[in-house]
Amino acid sequence: MMPDGPKYLRVSVTGRCNMRCIYCRSRPAAADELTAAEIGLLARAAAAEGVRKVRLTGGEPLVRPDLEEIVGAVSSVAGVEETTLTTNGLGLASRAAGLAGAGLSRVNVSLDSLRADRFARITGLDALEEVVRGIHAAAEAFGRVKVNTVLLRGVNDGEVCDFVRFAARTGVRLRFIEYYRLEAGPDGLEGVPSDEALERIADAFGRVVPLGRDAWSVAEKYRVPDAGAEIGIIRSASRPPCAECAKLRVTAEGMLLPCLYAESGPALAPLLRQGEQDAVQSIIRKVFAQKRRLGPAGRAVVRRGSFGG
Ligand code: SAM
Repeated sequence: MMPDGPKYLRVSVTGRCNMRCIYCRSRPAAADELTAAEIGLLARAAAAEGVRKVRLTGGEPLVRPDLEEIVGAVSSVAGVEETTLTTNGLGLASRAAGLAGAGLSRVNVSLDSLRADRFARITGLDALEEVVRGIHAAAEAFGRVKVNTVLLRGVNDGEVCDFVRFAARTGVRLRFIEYYRLEAGPDGLEGVPSDEALERIADAFGRVVPLGRDAWSVAEKYRVPDAGAEIGIIRSASRPPCAECAKLRVTAEGMLLPCLYAESGPALAPLLRQGEQDAVQSIIRKVFAQKRRLGPAGRAVVRRGSFGG
């Protein structure tokens, strides 16, 4: 059944990042980031429109010293059932317990290589050990942790099976997220389709058992019994899950975007600064209704920048 309102809000709390990943398309840093109170009000407006899950992301959210305050402001909103974080893991080891105490439900850590030299080449930082420490601290603080991996041909795709073994060894839930482009671009970067990754896993470990999808989730889950691991895939490029997508995004400068591929949308920041919850709700309702109406065709509209008016 089609959900009648957005279920999932992804809020970028900053455009700043302390890594320089070779493939990342994250937005430039905003001069004026939303405050913790403004993000709290945004979460209240979104929850009143149906949102049940809020993900804090960036840039790199841990660069904000008040991230714990932001988590508190979001997780205390009635209706928000889960407040989650996507992070590169730098500095997570010392903050995981505090974030859990502030009300964070769980963490996804991005990790694209298990080899220190390659990790440094991809991210521009020699910090694999620190990130792995962060993953362990998050597993301890939250009981479980997800690791997101983007596979790039000729860069880290030789590590597919190492990642599955890593998941089996550590108990992390691994998710392969497709790079947005599956053919080589001018920069030479090329993603690996999920089907190819699944084939390579099946060749190495035998059966790969589909487990379906969780409610409102775009990740397809699989069990790899002979490896003792559970993995997820997100076909963001080969089969974008637009029809089922119940997500909205807000940028660090407070712009509401209907989807990952949108470049612009209505500015919520001035309304949030004036405490105009009703006006924010009305824009959320309008943008989500338009997203639903257009379905997968919305991607083209999104690219022209005319979504949400
Ligand atoms: N800094 C945080 C982190 O590293 O998780 C949060 C922001 S980062 C933009 C969020 C996720 O987007 C990361 O898992 C990253 O790998 C992914 N990402 C960035 N650019 C991408 C692209 N072009 N295609 C697919 N995923 C991408």
